[in-house]
Amino acid sequence: MRDDIIDTELDTDLDTEIAIVGGGPAGLSAALALARARRAVTVIDGGRPRNRFASHMHGVLGHDGLPPTELLRLGRAEVEGYGGRFISGDVTEASLEGDTILVGTPAGTVRARRLLVATGIRDELPAIEGLREQWGWGVVVCPYCDGWERRNGVIGVIATSPVSVEQAQLLRQWSDRIVYFTNGVGEPDTETERRMLARSIRIERRGIRRIVTDAADTLTGVELDDATVAELGAIFTGPTMVPRDDLLRALGAATTVAHGSVWVEVDADGRTSVPGVWAAGNVVDPRANVPVSLGAGALIAGAINADLVRDDVEAAVSAAGVGR
Ligand SMILES: Cc1cc2nc3c(=O)[nH]c(=O)nc-3n(C[C@H](O)[C@H](O)[C@H](O)COP(=O)(O)OP(=O)(O)OC[C@H]3O[C@@H](n4cnc5c(N)ncnc54)[C@H](O)[C@@H]3O)c2cc1C
Repeated sequence: MRDDIIDTELDTDLDTEIAIVGGGPAGLSAALALARARRAVTVIDGGRPRNRFASHMHGVLGHDGLPPTELLRLGRAEVEGYGGRFISGDVTEASLEGDTILVGTPAGTVRARRLLVATGIRDELPAIEGLREQWGWGVVVCPYCDGWERRNGVIGVIATSPVSVEQAQLLRQWSDRIVYFTNGVGEPDTETERRMLARSIRIERRGIRRIVTDAADTLTGVELDDATVAELGAIFTGPTMVPRDDLLRALGAATTVAHGSVWVEVDADGRTSVPGVWAAGNVVDPRANVPVSLGAGALIAGAINADLVRDDVEAAVSAAGVGR
């Protein structure tokens, strides 16, 4: 690994070449690729990755079962090994000054040639007593992350919209004991109900009063409106995913309607409509799990570096007066 922490040939007018806001899988993966490309990288991170509630991470090749915090610790050490810098805390503002991007950090303003926003999303959970406390343990979202561990158990699906029916049908892959709680918002139509019953998915229309746990805080079921307790081994639910894209929007990034809500628009290389500003991971893609976020970070890092190389060539040509 490099030991010459910051390349002295870099443009000294700038604090960094690339500022990366967000040190989750997407941001760290980009930081690693860019630091290894001998770019000066500064990662500013608030330390609240989306999966921080989970003790273990699954479906990440080579790291299946690793605690999510451990992946980030390893990634950060790798980035630091190549000279990447870290600032802890939240970025609250970013602005453009000509070709330079100013990023307000707890350590002061960082001036950068490019900005990568990898700030993830916030999950808004159904307002059911005790549910938030079980998030990431007894109550989860992703069958590919947690389905195997719950296989063959009694799995509850708490609807957050009529689309939750699809989550119930998907989970049928892991267990034939699925209970679908309509929760007042996910009533299936007649044909949808027929298709659910054909797969032995039980439909429960009574409202949910609260989540029930045992003395060790392990989820054991839900209490319904009539005080009946439905016993469950796990609950899956689809939270409302809110992108943490305030910085991008403040910079004027164009948005688009996708996945049923409004997201900042990026091209296949992660480029937003704002010159020099890029985005990766969950902040622009709700489907990005850890491997997809890692891949997006690496891919977009390559695109950012190529973009900088183009600028470097232009600057060199103009400085040398070649062809003029
Ligand atoms: C409970 C749960 C369990 C999951 N389990 C799995 C699993 O087993 N396998 C899997 O593949 N996926 C899993 N996921 C999905 C996984 O969490 C996401 O795919 C992944 O975190 C997305 O990475 P990211 O880098 O885009 O965002 P994040 O990991 O959310 O990282 C974003 C980072 O940006 C920081 N940040 C945000 N705003 C600012 C700001 N203004 N200034 C500075 N920093 C900021 C945050 O503090 C955070 O550290 C799970 C999700 C949940 C909710």
